[in-house]
Amino acid sequence: MLNQLLCNQTSTVDSLATVQQVLDWSYRKIERIDARLLLQHVLQVNHAFLITHAETRLTSENAARFLKLVSQREHGVPVAYLTGKREFYDLGFKVSPAVLIPRPETELLVETALAHIPESRPRKILDLGTGSGAIGITIARHRPAACVTAVDISIDAIDIARWNAQKLSVNNIHIVQGDWFDTLDTGAAFDLIVSNPPYVAENDPHLQQGDLRFEPDLALSTQDNGLACIRHIIATAPAYLADGGELLLEHGYDQAAACQQLLQMNGFRKIYSLKDLAGIERVSGGSYCG
Ligand code: GLN
Repeated sequence: MLNQLLCNQTSTVDSLATVQQVLDWSYRKIERIDARLLLQHVLQVNHAFLITHAETRLTSENAARFLKLVSQREHGVPVAYLTGKREFYDLGFKVSPAVLIPRPETELLVETALAHIPESRPRKILDLGTGSGAIGITIARHRPAACVTAVDISIDAIDIARWNAQKLSVNNIHIVQGDWFDTLDTGAAFDLIVSNPPYVAENDPHLQQGDLRFEPDLALSTQDNGLACIRHIIATAPAYLADGGELLLEHGYDQAAACQQLLQMNGFRKIYSLKDLAGIERVSGGSYCG
């Protein structure tokens, strides 16, 4: 039955029973790292297991699941949506097509935020457009004395973020549905506001490529050449910041200058931009003294 099933899927291989054999077959179809992650997911094992159990035979059920995932990956579905998870910073997050897949470059935003938050003193932090909760939950987990509020407009995203907070035993975070600042009290006096808002221009051809094709538009793209949300957040943040409070935003590869200008126009001082590991200015921030 297994051979028959596998033969139906591939004309070139007629027996794919062991870990090594299914991997060799899949390496011809998708990236090796993707194939390994998908097989690890099916077998619920780590990479070391695949290496040390190369001759272990798959059950026909697991083989069929793996073939299906490889086929979906061949059609472009992101690995994170196929496995339902993605590592970010030092934590594992559940993801679904309702949320953006956390990116390595966003770790710069978290690192910078953590550098601004003293370990022991309580701080009020706001994460706007939290999605899976990756940013807010990671900050909350690393700063137990802080109190984090995380907002998203999507109720499906809120469900995922709440699930992640619970799974990671992070209690110092409140995850609420809202349209940016709309459901928050003015005078909330946050010490730090962070956000990775949608910043891709609506007509950017990258939206039709790779993982972005499968991610929610709501989390990715916005009007005004990708600056509409950043503009709104920078203009509205002062009413929600404590005196001397910081705003920290992730933005597109060519938006640092525009962000700096918007921060300056809206009364922020000590404005700066930071480069990600690819050498691209990716995060900009400043402090507000009202
Ligand atoms: N960094 C993402 C990308 O261009 C976009 C994320 C976002 O819009 N916040 O792939």
